[in-house]
Amino acid sequence: MSVHADLTDELARIVGPRYLLRGHAELLPYMTDANRMFAGMPLCAVCPATTAEVAAVLSACHRAGVGFVPRGAGTGLSGGATPGEGQVVVSLARLRRIRSVDPAGRTAVVEAGVVNAHLSRRVEHLGLYYAPDPSSQSACTIGGNVAENSGGAHCLKYGVTTNHVLGLEVVLPDGCVLRTGLLGPRCLGYDLTGVFCGSEGTLGIVTAACVRLLPRPEGVRTALALFRGVDDAAAAVERVTAAGAVPAALEMLDRHAMTAVERGAYPVGYPEHVGAALLVEFDGIEAGLDDCVADAMAICRECAVVEVRAARDTAERQLWWNNRKAAFAAMGRMAPAYYVADGVIPRTALTRVLGEIAAVSADARLWTANVFHAGDGNLHPLIGYDPAVPGESERVVTAGSAMLAACVAAGGAVSGEHGIGLEKRDELYYWFDEADMAAQREVHDIFDPRDRANPGKMYPLPGRCAEVRRAAWDPRARLGLAD
Ligand SMILES: Cc1cc2nc3c(=O)[nH]c(=O)nc-3n(C[C@H](O)[C@H](O)[C@H](O)COP(=O)(O)OP(=O)(O)OC[C@H]3O[C@@H](n4cnc5c(N)ncnc54)[C@H](O)[C@@H]3O)c2cc1C
Repeated sequence: MSVHADLTDELARIVGPRYLLRGHAELLPYMTDANRMFAGMPLCAVCPATTAEVAAVLSACHRAGVGFVPRGAGTGLSGGATPGEGQVVVSLARLRRIRSVDPAGRTAVVEAGVVNAHLSRRVEHLGLYYAPDPSSQSACTIGGNVAENSGGAHCLKYGVTTNHVLGLEVVLPDGCVLRTGLLGPRCLGYDLTGVFCGSEGTLGIVTAACVRLLPRPEGVRTALALFRGVDDAAAAVERVTAAGAVPAALEMLDRHAMTAVERGAYPVGYPEHVGAALLVEFDGIEAGLDDCVADAMAICRECAVVEVRAARDTAERQLWWNNRKAAFAAMGRMAPAYYVADGVIPRTALTRVLGEIAAVSADARLWTANVFHAGDGNLHPLIGYDPAVPGESERVVTAGSAMLAACVAAGGAVSGEHGIGLEKRDELYYWFDEADMAAQREVHDIFDPRDRANPGKMYPLPGRCAEVRRAAWDPRARLGLAD
């Protein structure tokens, strides 16, 4: 019997045959994440239900010398949960218990497969919630959020996932269980919780997290400002954030994004002649909230706003948010497929970099909408394309990479929140050099010396830094447009 057949039989014994998927049709959904540019056929997919089962699965993979790929809900946008040929996908979907809630300490211990939005719903009756809110929160899991160090619209004020994780239970690639932070025996020593946040499954599998819960804000005020173009909206972003009170959220849509969302499930009636929309939200104790939103609206007026007003009621506020959060899905109305780039820049560079994104898009003969966390400077150019048109997918990837090069040139970085995965391994060299990557690799090798945990993700091939950087600064040449 082959090593692989032995392994799959052992995995079936660990989780029960029903939770071991190995037929071609069963494995199709596990071939990609939400980034359809990458795909791979795994050896099998296994769905353990407990930490002990995850440990037994990884131990079996370790002995067989086979790599594994952790998978939450598969909503990742950088190919992180996409398997390589012959690897074992480990789905955490069945680890979905909320193990405990401590209302006085404002913490919860939740398993990795718990869906982000479900956690807030489960503690709502206690007046608490979990703050990090990726736009995919109705599907993505806490384990995936930890692995990607995910952000969200309200992370401007509240911080990203790592700021809300107080301890982790992790199964290491050899099957040993490590408990860190508040889940560990003691909280002193190195910040191992921080090491695992954002490690994209390359150090092991998170099976549970102790997370911070926050009291629900007493009040919330939301305003919608419409501008002639992104320049005026970007000026307002800069001035609102510099003015004093930090908004809970500051989200921007450009004209193309507004066109898309108006065709989506939650149209709000954006007028045709406006070129950018800004959603500004403040939350906290009631006293002072009206002043905060009034001040922000006054700043928008000074920035040549076309129209600005506060939400009349909860229903209108919810409609504005549904409209914003459905923006990615609405791209389906504009093109057969779309690609989401993810870069981050200083807020002060918004106007310049949005201009460069538009130029790259025009050079590549592509259609790009921008909908993004403007307060954080976290850009999401959405590039529409048709995979059936020869060469178009390649042009999209090249244009996306050139957009990231523009972010780095403006003092930013190649990922705001979607991670590196398979997608941006080369682009890491825009930011790190070979020595930086070697230092990261040394940390990796402490936990995963045999490279079994999500192999092939997050690390560029060594020795290519100079070549990648040379190409980066000349996007026109990369698009075949040089003289
Ligand atoms: C419409 C849409 C909107 C989005 N909006 C946002 C947003 O606002 N902010 C944001 O940050 N992201 C956003 N994303 C990206 C994505 O939802 C996040 O990266 C999310 O955290 C992924 O969670 P998941 O459970 O789907 O993980 P998956 O996609 O299954 O996996 C993501 C990565 O984490 C690893 N992983 C998963 N679970 C574990 C685990 N238990 N232990 C170790 N590694 C693990 C995987 O191997 C992979 O590398 C969006 C995606 C979509 C499709």
